Amino acid sequence: MEPCSKPIQEFTSPFDCLLFDLDDTLYSSKVGIGEACKRNIEEFLVKKCGFAEVKASGLRVELFKTYGSSLAGLRFLGYDIDADDYHGFVHGRLPYEAIKPDPQLRALLRSINQRKIIFTNSDRKHAIKVLERIGLQDCFDEIICFETLNPNISKSSRPNEFPVVLKPSIDAMKIAIDAAQVDPRRTLFLDDNERNIAAGKSVGLRTVLVGKQVKRKEGDYVVESVVHLPQVVPEIWVSPTDSKDQRMSRGRSEMDPVLKSTTVGA
Ligand SMILES: [Mg+2]
Repeated sequence: MEPCSKPIQEFTSPFDCLLFDLDDTLYSSKVGIGEACKRNIEEFLVKKCGFAEVKASGLRVELFKTYGSSLAGLRFLGYDIDADDYHGFVHGRLPYEAIKPDPQLRALLRSINQRKIIFTNSDRKHAIKVLERIGLQDCFDEIICFETLNPNISKSSRPNEFPVVLKPSIDAMKIAIDAAQVDPRRTLFLDDNERNIAAGKSVGLRTVLVGKQVKRKEGDYVVESVVHLPQVVPEIWVSPTDSKDQRMSRGRSEMDPVLKSTTVGA
């Protein structure tokens, strides 16, 4: 064995970029935003599309299962729903004040030197509002969102001319990889949805299933919360350009507060 080859490999991070889902990944599903979102969708189906109130809940579930989202399903079925109107109704009235600042998560993200990108099915306005509420508005290099995945939707002459593209479709994963300009094999994708994680893995991304305690076959890693990343994927924090001494001092100064606080919460 060559004496120098092993240390270099050992101390080179396998990741150039991290792709983060937003909702229920960067804040807890227990906050209640998801539930409020479901109620707003059902109200949209009743008030804007004329469905009976008793059918709204079942229809929402059916549209989600079959088409990936209510908006995707409604447009596929020929309802001329403007995406901005839909998002304004469904997301615009969410109780954002329930999302609290998360300084621990902020410190953790700020300690990651690689590119960090949001990859969400939500619209950009929602993504920015949520990031501002958590205090993460300056922690990401880019936001890949509904508008990135569906650039032509506002130009369509009929509702089903351009099918709505969202995770977990393979098309959505490919658009995101293209937009982020990353090598999927050197990119870590974090999401709370197992179908999204499976889709990510199928296009070659390394994957972290968030919000679960037990590892599933789809995810390379599993974390109950993103703040536990240092314990589960410590190789994120290794920089190929660090000398040994820099590595040790950087590792201590940047990781200690994160590790201390995560240990308390773990
Ligand atoms: Mg999510």
